[in-house]
Formats: sequence, structure tokens, C-alpha cells
Amino acid sequence: MYEHYWQQVGEKTTVVIRGWQHMSYFSDVSNICWFLEPELAEEIARVHRVVGNAVTEGRHIIVGTGSSQLFLAALFALSPRDGPEPVSVVSQAPFYSSYPSMTDCLKSGLYKWAGDAQSYSKEGPYIELVTSPNNPDGNVRRSVVNRSEGTLVHDLAYYWPQYTPISSPADHELMLFTVSKSTGHAGMRIGWALVKDQEVARRMIKFIELNTIGVSKDSQLRAAKVLKAVSDSSEHGGTWEGVESFFKFSYRVMAERWKLLREAVNSSRIFSLPEFPPAHCNFLNRVFEPQPAFAWLKCERDIDDCESFLRGHKILARGGKHFGVSPKYVRVSMLDRDNNFNLFVKRLSTIHL
Ligand code: PMP
Repeated sequence: MYEHYWQQVGEKTTVVIRGWQHMSYFSDVSNICWFLEPELAEEIARVHRVVGNAVTEGRHIIVGTGSSQLFLAALFALSPRDGPEPVSVVSQAPFYSSYPSMTDCLKSGLYKWAGDAQSYSKEGPYIELVTSPNNPDGNVRRSVVNRSEGTLVHDLAYYWPQYTPISSPADHELMLFTVSKSTGHAGMRIGWALVKDQEVARRMIKFIELNTIGVSKDSQLRAAKVLKAVSDSSEHGGTWEGVESFFKFSYRVMAERWKLLREAVNSSRIFSLPEFPPAHCNFLNRVFEPQPAFAWLKCERDIDDCESFLRGHKILARGGKHFGVSPKYVRVSMLDRDNNFNLFVKRLSTIHL
């Protein structure tokens, strides 16, 4: 979906790296996150200032190979060192399907997946993952367990104005962001964490050191250039040297796609979609309804396995059981290329019982 925009931007985001450049492991030994490129740190702080979606003052910025690596770094850093058993990791269902598999993949002695946060009642320490807006259903989320022994990880991959109204700058202890969903550059593998507590930040940095001895400098420099373009285009308001503002473009595409999808769903009478309350976005200065990166589609009537039903109509989607809920739901990406998205809507609108 974002390719069109970056084609318009053209050479402004081209990066040239010569064979002799950026060869060292180190980026800035004066920074606690010694493998973070200063240019990237600057553009991360700037884009949050421009968009107003997160507080960066008084935070340590930690770069990761995608926010996926930072998610594991956060679990490592937040787990009690000498607990009698692995700490429970919970998230309200439906939750991002990678959380359980990433948490349990190494059968860690430090942390263990414990399922839906809403039914979690065990005493003692726990880690709650709060994804807002949520993957897969797009809802704005808050923590649900709310006990003093808990620590929170806020995964804010989708807290950007093309998906949801930016109501205030997020101001949590540990927040995760990624270029994958903000600018569309998932293949760059760059994410960042904003961390208040210095000891937690130190442990996360240690994890990345043990895991990959830092993060690709080539990717960090490319990410800095892309984020700079996002901020430059936003600051110019209308157009930026003939190019539209990044968020105006992406908001418009998402709005158009949601309109087409809702029309198709309404005409089929077999499916339903969540409804979202409108809210004011301080960045776009308008009131709008969330238009999530995923459609959380429910098969109504007596269709119990929505994933298989759709597969029978040549539509690939991920079933609800991967997200800890009923197979009557599926998650469909709204971010594919125009051709695929249009084909999806067309196929959906022709399904009749
Ligand atoms: N968190 C959420 C909620 C996501 O949806 C995704 C991507 N699907 C990620 C994290 C992973 O992002 P990254 O590509 O930065 O590893």
C-alpha cells in the first residue's frame, strides 16, 4: 500500500553506503544504547514530536531488529531475576498471534505465556502486553489486570494517524514502535523502544548485545532517512516539494479501503465488522473513526469456521483461534497492494449463501 507514496518521494530517500563506511559495531559509545545511530535517534524523537503520539523526553531510545526483537528484550528485562518460577505473560484476547509463540519458543525459565489477561487471576508478578490500537481487532486498549505486582509493555505499532485518531502523546513506562506499520518498511527490520527506567533499558540493551551485538547500521541509516521524509512532509502541511504529506496520503488510502470493505460487507449480509467510536485527532485536526490495519471480520449465521469458509472462496485470512478467540472470526490485512485489496473486496462482495 505504501509503495506508491515512496515512489513519489523518489530520490529523497535514497541512501548510498560506500564499502568503507559504517564498518564498526559501535555507533555512539556516549549513549547507553551504544549501537543506536545518532541520526536515527534524532529522527525518532522528531517524528514523535511532529505527530504528537508519544513522549520521548526523559526516555531511553533503544533500537531493535524490528519491534519483535525489542519485545523479547522487554520480556528478558522485566522478568524477575531469581523468581521461583517463570513470570506469567498475559494479554487481553484477541491478542497478536505471535505473542504466545514468541514467548514460549525457547521454553524460557524466566517467563511463560499465560493467555488471556481478562481471566488471569494468579497472585504474584506478571507482565501484561497492551497493544493499542490492537492487532487483530483495531480497538483502543488499556491494561486490564491492574495489580501492583505487574509490569506493562505497550506495543504501539499502530498508534499512527492513518489508523487511529491521535488523542494524546502516549506516556507509558515501556513503549514499542516499528517502521513496519508506520511507514510500511517491514523489510528494513527496524523498531524502537521508549523506556523510562534506566535499569530496564540497560537490560534490554544487554539482551540485544547478547542476541545480535547491535542492529544493522545500514538499516538504521535508511530508517532515519525515511522517518526524516515523514516529518519533513508533515511539517510542510500541504505539499512538500510537490509531494503530499505522508499521513494525508496514508489516511486517505485507508479511509477509501475501509469504505469499500464496509460496502462489500453490508451487501453480503454474511459478515460483520467492528464499529468504532469517532474521536478527535490532534495531528490531523479532525474527527474520524479508527481505520485499522486489519479487518476483524466475523462470519455470521451458522458458519463456524470462517477461515475455511473464506478459503473456499479463494480468500486467505487468519482464523480467530490464532488470536485466542472463536473461529467465527478472521483477520484480513488492509495493507496489501491495490490489486490484491481490490480483488479481495470483489470476491467478498460476490459471496452469497
Ligand atoms: N507488534 C504488533 C502488534 C504487530 O502487529 C507486529 C507486526 N505484525 C509487530 C509487533 C512486529 O513488528 P516488527 O516488524 O517491527 O518486528
